[in-house]
Order: sequence, then structure tokens, then C-alpha cells
Amino acid sequence: MNAKDINQTYNLLALAENDTHLKHFGIYYIGPCPFCGGRDRFNLKQTPDGWRWLCRKCTQANYKSPIDYIMRRDDLDFRQALRTLNGKTSQPAPRAQVTITAAPARSLPDSNWESSAWKEVSAANNALLKSQEARDYLTGRRLDQCTWNLYLLGYAVIYDPTVKRQRPAIVIPWQDGETITAIKYRFIDNVPDGLRYTAHKGSTPILFGLSAAANDKTLLLVEGEINCMSISQTACYELISGLDVISFGSDTGGRASILQTIASGYQRVIVWADDAEKSSAIRSMLARPALALCSPLLDNIKHDANILLQKGLLGDFLRETIKDSNTV
Ligand SMILES: [Zn+2]
Repeated sequence: MNAKDINQTYNLLALAENDTHLKHFGIYYIGPCPFCGGRDRFNLKQTPDGWRWLCRKCTQANYKSPIDYIMRRDDLDFRQALRTLNGKTSQPAPRAQVTITAAPARSLPDSNWESSAWKEVSAANNALLKSQEARDYLTGRRLDQCTWNLYLLGYAVIYDPTVKRQRPAIVIPWQDGETITAIKYRFIDNVPDGLRYTAHKGSTPILFGLSAAANDKTLLLVEGEINCMSISQTACYELISGLDVISFGSDTGGRASILQTIASGYQRVIVWADDAEKSSAIRSMLARPALALCSPLLDNIKHDANILLQKGLLGDFLRETIKDSNTV
């Protein structure tokens, strides 16, 4: 078997699980790095080309192969690694299990749509590493590379029908377990008459962040994908435990039964939207008690989660919110 076949079929999950303790989030397995430790800096995922891994600290941003792993772990050169892994490739890699409570049946995009969506997401993912403009945009919003990887963000040039031309955009896939159900585009150049967001044709946005959620104690339902990523990044780095965050995007309609099913798996639910009206609209869809939160007004500016992140205030805000909601 050649290197490509080995990298495609070798069950790296089984091997890595012997070396470290991995927790399952959608398509990802996350835990301490077998080489440099930490808490959640090691990231393993299943791709159409086989298992791939990276560490936020001791590898560079590109995902590495099973052969890279065994070379590093056992201090082997490439040919020795090939020999070691050859003949151990027969176990099929297990399919990742969805960690979220199953949502009621709904119509999802068909498999042709999804396979083209995966191709687009992976091409956009590669393009992001090469686009300074896109990286600057995300860095400016204080979202770091681990978050880009966790949410499979990408970069592409997308047609904006309102100004009738192509514009640069961040590609944001919406996943439900291992399935991509929608692709949203966030335009990043500042065009006053242009759109801010658009979506891939045939998208079915269900909820954003499902694949990163782990059924913790408190569920925070938040408006907007960037707010959602801001919160999960802060919770991770500031060790705020017991919190999952999911976004309903920008509109509230049509997902009551899914929201109810997901919310039922949590002890506490908090809804955070920009204004109180939207918060209570979402809250009334949940059919259970939930705390409504709207973005705080500081110096006459509404501070959503991402603005709080940029100002270094999000961690404290989340800690206060969780503490207060304990008494509700
Ligand atoms: Zn490491």
C-alpha cells in the first residue's frame, strides 16, 4: 500500500485514543496533545482523504496525516513509518457519532448538494490560508486560527447581485453532525450599498454551531455566527465550563421544533439577541423557561458578543451571565 492509501485508510483515531484522551465534537475529536500536552489543543478529524490532525501549539496550521503522526510519535523517518503502518490499515475508521440530541426529521439538502458543498468548503478552507485580506478580517474580529479550523471557515469570491459584481467573503458552513446543510457568505469588503451576507443556493440553515456543541449544562442561543464563534472561543480559552453556544443566525422563523428538541437536553437555556423583541420571540418558541438577554448598551453602543470580545470584556460578561442564570 502506498503512502496515499495509508493516509486515506489508517485508523488514526484508534491509535491517538491510546495516546491521549479525546472528546467528541461533531466531526472533531479534541483533547490534550499527545506531544505537548495542554487541554484541548489537539484536534483530529475525519476527512474524505482519511484522518487528519493538528495541534494549536506544536504543529503549524495545516492538518497532518497519519504518517506524520507516527513519524513524530515513534521518531521514525518516512520509510520506517510507511513500513510500520503497512498491514495495519484494514480496520475501517469508525464513523463519528453525533453528540447532539437527535432533532426531528426535516428535509435536508440532497447528497449531490452536500458533496459539492464539502468540496467548496474544503477549497475555501485552503484559500483562507492564502488570503491576507480574509485572515486580517478574522484577526480583526479577534477570532483566532483554532476557531477558523473548528468551524471550517474559508474564503471565496462571491457574486453580490445588489452591486452586480464579485466580492471577497468569509465562507461559513452550517453543519448538523457530519452533514453540511448550508453555506453562508459574509462579505468582508466595505461596500455601503452591497449585501452583508448571502448564502449558497439550496442552503437549509438549521442551527449554527451544532457540531461544536457537547451537551453541556447551559445552552446559549445567540444571534449571528460570528457572535457564536466569539463565545465558544472565549469559553474555551478562559475555561468557562458547562456552556454550549449555538446560533439561530439572523432570522427567527421556522425552527421551533428543532430548537425545542435541542433545548430539552440542557438544564438551562439563555437566549441572547441584539434586541429584546427578538430574544423574546426565540424564547417563546422554546416551550420551556429560558432567560432572555439583549446586547448591553455601553457608551450608547450596543455591544454584541463579538464587540465584547474585541474589547476584552466577553469572558467577564459570560461569567456574570452564567452566574446570574443559576438563580433563575
Ligand atoms: Zn502539541
